[in-house]
Amino acid sequence: MNTTPEALISEAQRILLICHVNPDGDAIGSLLGMGWALRKMGKQCVLACSDPVPPTYHYLPGSETVTSEPQGSFDLVITLDASDLRRVGPVYTSLDLSGVPIINIDHHITNVGFGTVNLVDPQATSTAEVVLALLRRLGVELDQTIATCLLNGIVTDTRGFSTPNTTRRAMEAAITLMDAGAPLAKVTDQVFNRRPLAEVRLWAEALRTVRLEGPIIWAEITPAMRLACGFTDSGDAGLANFLITANEADIAVVFNQQADGKIDVGMRAVPGVDVSAVALEFGGGGHPQAAGFSINGSLPEVRERVIAALKQAWLEQNDSS
Ligand code: 5GP
Ligand code: MN
Repeated sequence: MNTTPEALISEAQRILLICHVNPDGDAIGSLLGMGWALRKMGKQCVLACSDPVPPTYHYLPGSETVTSEPQGSFDLVITLDASDLRRVGPVYTSLDLSGVPIINIDHHITNVGFGTVNLVDPQATSTAEVVLALLRRLGVELDQTIATCLLNGIVTDTRGFSTPNTTRRAMEAAITLMDAGAPLAKVTDQVFNRRPLAEVRLWAEALRTVRLEGPIIWAEITPAMRLACGFTDSGDAGLANFLITANEADIAVVFNQQADGKIDVGMRAVPGVDVSAVALEFGGGGHPQAAGFSINGSLPEVRERVIAALKQAWLEQNDSS
């Protein structure tokens, strides 16, 4: 079908917006920012995610409206920060959305282009940056609410404007959002400097499991640890980002076992090393320096397979450089 996001949005009345499972700050910020903008255009919107909004992002306006059980019928679906449709989880399959067009808004190089329209820009630091470009095309006037949500996405995915892909364009996007009233210092403080005590306790448990194998540092999180710490979120509490700060490591991995037995594998790499191909090999996706996937199996078995694949990838990348 040869259509545009503008045309699909202008025809739609009731829009379902969905971000990916285990949402991060870009997923939530883009979801909320896009939702507020569409409401400003007079659209009815339902904001959905298969997992709860992490407490870190509860400060964002509208975060309490995100549901894991959207009801009713929709004439348009917009996915945010999801590189394939499985990544949005059961929220999508729980509804009959056959024939409903999809606008796929993302910035992952591994995006498979599953939408009716695909707004995928791998040069963008964040999905929030892609949303901002779309809002310009739609002629939506930014306000403090929209801008704060989108800045939350950029700040999260650039880790406070520190990742190698932080371009002039990303900085300009942030300035545009600040001009519209987004409070950079507050957003940065929320994203990086505030965390529930349960998260600190989970780190204490998980850091006991840390091992270094060659260039790879890894750790595990189990449902028992989460329970013992009162940690209700399903994510890794930022542990993979912390592990990759170890000087000795080129690659960091967190094996995060979920209540249903599946293991979420989150990987990080130092600049110059790429873990996205290994993520794809295991059915996931991501970016060169941050990628992941979800897999069935026991912790020791999954660990062995993943570490072997990462060692192999690391050797190949170091051979050719
Ligand atoms: P995290 O370790 O923060 O969960 O994920 C890092 C990055 O890896 C995310 O930004 C996302 O791009 C990607 N990623 C993580 N898990 C999955 C997954 O199960 N499937 C896909 N397609 N990508 C994932
Ligand atoms: Mn993102």
